[in-house]
Amino acid sequence: MSQTAELIATEHRLGAHNYKPLDVVLTRGQGVHVWDGDGNRYLDCLSAYSAVNQGHCHPRILAAMTEQASKLTLTSRAFRNDQLALFYEELAALTGSHKILPMNSGAEAVETAIKAVRKWGYEVKGVEKNKAEIIVCSENFHGRTLSIISFSTDPDAREGFGPYTPGFTIVPFGDAAALEAAISPNTVAALIEPIQGEAGVIIPPAGYFRRVRDLCTEHNVTLILDEIQTGLGRTGKFLAEEHEGIEADVTLIGKALSGGFYPVSAVLSNSEVLGVLQPGQHGSTFGGNPLACAIAREALKVLVEEGMIENAERMGAYFMEGLRSIRSNMIREVRGRGLMMAVELLPEAGGARKYCYAMKDRGILAKDTHVNTIRFAPPLVITRDQVDWAIENIDAVLSKGT
Ligand SMILES: *Cc1c(COP(=O)(O)O)cnc(C)c1O
Repeated sequence: MSQTAELIATEHRLGAHNYKPLDVVLTRGQGVHVWDGDGNRYLDCLSAYSAVNQGHCHPRILAAMTEQASKLTLTSRAFRNDQLALFYEELAALTGSHKILPMNSGAEAVETAIKAVRKWGYEVKGVEKNKAEIIVCSENFHGRTLSIISFSTDPDAREGFGPYTPGFTIVPFGDAAALEAAISPNTVAALIEPIQGEAGVIIPPAGYFRRVRDLCTEHNVTLILDEIQTGLGRTGKFLAEEHEGIEADVTLIGKALSGGFYPVSAVLSNSEVLGVLQPGQHGSTFGGNPLACAIAREALKVLVEEGMIENAERMGAYFMEGLRSIRSNMIREVRGRGLMMAVELLPEAGGARKYCYAMKDRGILAKDTHVNTIRFAPPLVITRDQVDWAIENIDAVLSKGT
């Protein structure tokens, strides 16, 4: 058996089967590229679900990480460290936030926001104890913890994991009238993704978020935008809310906040929501640790100083133009914003997965989602030549079939 086959067999034997990865075993990454153990090079069109927006193993983030790792990695929040304040300061300057709460995974940031907004509901809005409601959207993806999957509409994510956390109302994504109808005196928040990534890059109708913003303001409902995937340059803006001309009350970021080096997430707030948390009421052993802060500080600097957000806007438009130029009778729709893109195939194409395998054979790694959709989300450092090469190969697979 080849070493690759052995590694796959060992994973299969010893690991829980909660993922079904493409059978490629990666050993190295640099910029937009990753390599497998046999030396084959691939263009990464997933970017670890947009966690490596800055490109694989970015040298500046690597240097910041190794430097901090040799000095101090973890103090817990029982003591202070010399990186946290600087992380706050730099992130607040970029986002206009007044308060920040650092966590690790995206799901933890979502959980943190849910806790804070419930408490805000009782202490500030005056909602009756244990009656707080949060409005969420169908086809949402906010993570994998129990409370989060309690309001998922994806049977795979939810079924078999009850009993579920109550207090969530689900309305269709993109339907402001449905959201309005769901608001009650007990509604403390609406939790929404600016673009639904896991659902297959679903972009809401123009004007939806302006209406949602107005409704939330009118009814004293906290608007929480989950920008864990859409944020940090992915859509061609620092935050995707900028496309909508609105500002959330609470913004959740994660994934690319560390450029893929380390789990770092944060809850950003420009209202009094985070102010309700008092000492001892919430925390995390690793949240806000000096290694995480040093990595995130450099990951943010790199994103801005190296023009990655502008590049995402330019290359996103160019990539989309390329995808739209592909002549294939298997494509139902091409959609996207910035470098967050998807090609939805017609049902008769027989599912997206086999096309992902065919692209892999040509050196492109992309991920199928919801059976018929292929997502394209390369690192934000992709060049024009690399887009040309990608389109040529995607075209070869989609126009000829498998
Ligand atoms: C990935 C993701 C999460 C969860 O992040 P984890 O780090 O996997 O817990 C939450 N919301 C959105 C929109 C995501 O894309």
